[in-house]
Formats: sequence, structure tokens, C-alpha cells
Amino acid sequence: MASVLDKFRLDEQVAVVTGGARGIGLAIATALAEAKAKVVLADLDADTGEASAARLRQQGLEAHFYPLDVTQPAQAEALAQALVERWGRVDVLVNNAGICRNTPALETPDEEWRLVFEVNVHGVFWCSRAFGRRMVAQKRGSIVNIASMSGRIVNKPQPQAAYNASKAAVIHLTKSLAAELAPYGVRVNAISPGYIGTEMTKRGLETPAWRQDWLGLTPMGRLGEPAEVASCALFLASEASSYLTGSELVVDGGYTVW
Ligand code: NAD
Repeated sequence: MASVLDKFRLDEQVAVVTGGARGIGLAIATALAEAKAKVVLADLDADTGEASAARLRQQGLEAHFYPLDVTQPAQAEALAQALVERWGRVDVLVNNAGICRNTPALETPDEEWRLVFEVNVHGVFWCSRAFGRRMVAQKRGSIVNIASMSGRIVNKPQPQAAYNASKAAVIHLTKSLAAELAPYGVRVNAISPGYIGTEMTKRGLETPAWRQDWLGLTPMGRLGEPAEVASCALFLASEASSYLTGSELVVDGGYTVW
């Protein structure tokens, strides 16, 4: 019988992290690779992605970069096919690629609204469909969607209506896919981070009024680190969470308790 720590291991498994070149995605890729998965960083940003994968390999981890624009369903399909052809399996998909724009709702240009949904919602669906098909065929798999606490609450003080709505969609898409894929041995769960220190939050933290609200409204009084999201992703990706599907881990230092 496997020990509880063994259930977190991903030996022989193939794991893909979209938006894995930097930030939360890179931290998740690192955690999955430390758990012994073969990890694929799939990202729009090839320079950063190649460099990040090379750094992981220098640490003795197995990491590969593949270019991917999650807004392109054909690219998602081609990547899933390429990985199954290379390794014969794909076990974990982390839908992490995401973007945020801080434009007041009434001033939002058409294209900006569409792009946020293209990446944050449609991208999650295209990748889940492409990889989900392979996972259903092999009768195993775990999909982890990086949503946000913004899918549950409205952030203060910055405006970001498209982002908030897109993340609410990710939470409900997670439950919908979980229901459909459970009979085939594929689990689908979400993580909703609060404020995490990455490029995405850098500019906001440099704005005193934003920083004051962000930290002041977080009971723990600090930002989260990407690694603190990554350990939750490993839990959801692995057999350690074998009876969880359609669930959402809120990793927000308590922000949403008020
Ligand atoms: P980040 O901006 O540091 O990294 C995002 C990565 O996604 C980049 O490497 C970027 O190149 C990639 N990407 C963007 N568009 C893409 C596309 N079309 N196809 C493929 N890759 C693409 O952001 P982060 O803070 O690490 O955020 C990662 C995820 O976590 C996002 O989904 C974000 O919404 C979510 N999140 C972040 C926070 C936070 O406070 N940082 C909080 C809640 C949720």
C-alpha cells in the first residue's frame, strides 16, 4: 500500500503547464518536476520558456519547452497529439495561462474584452478538450485549472470586469468538465489564488493605494508566493487528491473570508 507521501509522486507521468514560462506556471512546473513528472512548459513566450526549461534541467529535473498559444484550438490539439506520440501518455494538464487588464468596464475596447476571454476562458476549454480526449482514451488524467479569487469576489480598488467574469467562467467550466469526465477516470479541479507575487501583480504593488487595499484586505497581511500555489497544484494533479473532482482550492491568505 502506497504511503501518503508516495501519493504525491508523479513518476513516469507526463504533465503539461500552459503559461509555464514564468510566474505561477513555472512554480507549478517545478513542483511537478520535483515530484518526478516529465514536465512540458507550454507558452507563447518562447525565449523565457526555453530559458526556464533549461534552468529546470540544470537542477536535474526533466523539463521541455513547447510553443503554444492557448487561444488557438488547432495548436492545443497539435500539442496534445505531439506529446502522446512522444511519450505514449499525458497525465496532467494545468491550465495556467492567463492575462488581466485593468480597464474601467465602460472604457473597455471590444478587442481587449475578447482577448481576456480568448486566453482565460476559451484557452482553458481548447486545451481541456484536446488533452481531455487523450485522457479519456487512456482512462486516467488530472486537469487543474488556475482560476482566481476574482471569480468569486470583485477586487478593490482596480477595475477588471473582463478578468473577474472570465475567472468565474473558469470555476463553473471546471465543475461542468468534472461532471462529464468523471466516469472516464479524469478529474478536473480548480485553484483560486489571491494576490501572488508575479509579473502580473508587480505594477499594482508599486501603486500605493492598490498595495494598501491588497495587503490590508488579506487577513494574513502578505502576498502569496508562487510556490504556495504550486504545492496545491501538485496535490490536485496527483493521487493525493484521488477523491476530489469539481472542487476549488482557494489559496488567498484568507482574502475571501470577510
Ligand atoms: P504571469 O503574467 O507572470 O504569467 C503568465 C504566463 O502566461 C506568461 O508566461 C505568458 O507568456 C503566458 N501566456 C499569456 N498568454 C498566453 C497564451 N495566449 N498562450 C500561452 N501562454 C500565454 O502571470 P501569473 O501571475 O503567473 O498568473 C498565472 C495564472 O494565475 C493566470 O491564469 C492568472 O490569472 C492566475 N492568477 C494570478 C494571480 C496573481 O496574483 N498573480 C492571482 C489569481 C490568479
